[in-house]
Amino acid sequence: MSTQSFAELGLDASVLEAISAIGYETPSPIQAQAIPILLKGDNLLGIAQTGTGKTAAFALPLLSRIDATSNAPQILVLTPTRELAIQVAEAFNSYASHFRNFHVLPIYGGQDFYPQLKALKRGAQVIVGTPGRTLDHLRRGTLKLDALSALVLDEADEMLRMGFIDDVEAILAATPDDCQRALFSATMPGQIRKVAQTYLSNAQEVKIESQTRTVDRISQFMLPVYAERKLDALTRILEVEPFDASIIFVRTKAETTLLADKLSARGHAVAPLNGDLNQRQREQTVEDLKSGKKDIVIATDVAARGLDVPRITHVINYDVPYDSEAYIHRVGRTGRAGRTGKAILLVTPRERSWLRTLERATNSPMEAYELPSPADLQKLREQQFESQLLAFVDDPKLAKAMALLDDIAERNDMDIAMIAGALACGMEAAQPGALPLEQPSALPTPSASPKQRDPRRSGGGRPGEKRRGHKPGFKGKSGYRKEGGSRPPRTGGGGGKGKPTARQTDRRR
Ligand code: AMP
Repeated sequence: MSTQSFAELGLDASVLEAISAIGYETPSPIQAQAIPILLKGDNLLGIAQTGTGKTAAFALPLLSRIDATSNAPQILVLTPTRELAIQVAEAFNSYASHFRNFHVLPIYGGQDFYPQLKALKRGAQVIVGTPGRTLDHLRRGTLKLDALSALVLDEADEMLRMGFIDDVEAILAATPDDCQRALFSATMPGQIRKVAQTYLSNAQEVKIESQTRTVDRISQFMLPVYAERKLDALTRILEVEPFDASIIFVRTKAETTLLADKLSARGHAVAPLNGDLNQRQREQTVEDLKSGKKDIVIATDVAARGLDVPRITHVINYDVPYDSEAYIHRVGRTGRAGRTGKAILLVTPRERSWLRTLERATNSPMEAYELPSPADLQKLREQQFESQLLAFVDDPKLAKAMALLDDIAERNDMDIAMIAGALACGMEAAQPGALPLEQPSALPTPSASPKQRDPRRSGGGRPGEKRRGHKPGFKGKSGYRKEGGSRPPRTGGGGGKGKPTARQTDRRR
């Protein structure tokens, strides 16, 4: 992570206010490099994947330079898919939330022309479009680029792969000569380099250096997961992993508290660790983790810098890190003092190429993490419930409780199993989920194979969008699979020496 602050980079005050409200602590490495260049007005060639913070790397400086009093398009961003166009437009909106007059408009194929025409007439300072539809509007004269001051090509290699390169070049040629240009691409194939040479004069190049470093004593796993299922996946990991203490990394300060609240509601002894806490509060949290008062800390990279707690057995990367250096630092929070550790990375389909970069940088391929099957999970929960019950066999109040229940059974002509069942139902009513009655459902996860694409992305994301050149081999819905079933459940979780369950942790407190 960069040690610079956003304020030091020279961004506009209302942009700074917006990112502070979102909860970004420090610029990611690509942001620290790209922002000063784009603020100066220079052209930029950025080699960066999704997950590195590249959207903010161009959106923040370009927003800092727009003239909010004019409604004419000043920034045009081209993206390969409509999903990305919407995502980038949303990012612009959030970064400009403190502007008084701001409009961003996503335009993409598959959507009626009419609403786009209406919105274009109303005016928007930022247009985020897919190449085909953007070119259509240009040719019809419904999109005018005379006032354009900056053009960004996002995921340029992806646009090339999808056959949009001719459209992109036609749009580039239609932009004013003095327009600032930025091109972001995860890879730099010859054709993209040629485009850069032709249209991005004197471009400054920025890229994330991936230092190669091996990570010893730490077994590394990755779990492909859809973004909206991350919390479910994390909950299951925490349920089956025999961790002593665990650190979970997220991107924003806001997410540290949000996730801590969610895990706390599920019975975990958890605390957030972020840059908003003062020194004393941070020390207290680390102390609580060391002493076992807390078992889980949800941290940002900055807040966890240098954290040394030997009982951390697991590092969970809930959000992917920005670069390999951050990754290496994160996983280095476990395996301290000669012990072994385990690192699990949750990776969404869009972040897959980032994963391969990480593997190269750490010199070790990550093993696919197998979530337990629903049947295994159910068995585990039953075993844990049983050991929780057995833990009370020596309870001094047992004899009295037995006498009371015997009495009730006799008076009501019930057998003792029925009494026990009624008691268990009472437990369940008091604490839903206390009784393992229903087998959990399977968690749909994307395939671990890097070749398969996010089905939602490859599905009809671009109807009406023209494609030229070769077509990618999308695999559609086949990316789904059920949870792995081969992993034996962890046994003896409750009464034995294993990690207590969330419910037991709750009881201990
Ligand atoms: P991107 O690589 O642009 O797709 O960004 C990936 C994610 O990182 C997005 O969810 C952003 O909101 C988030 N993000 C970008 N910059 C920062 C930052 N400096 N601090 C925290 N989160 C960030």
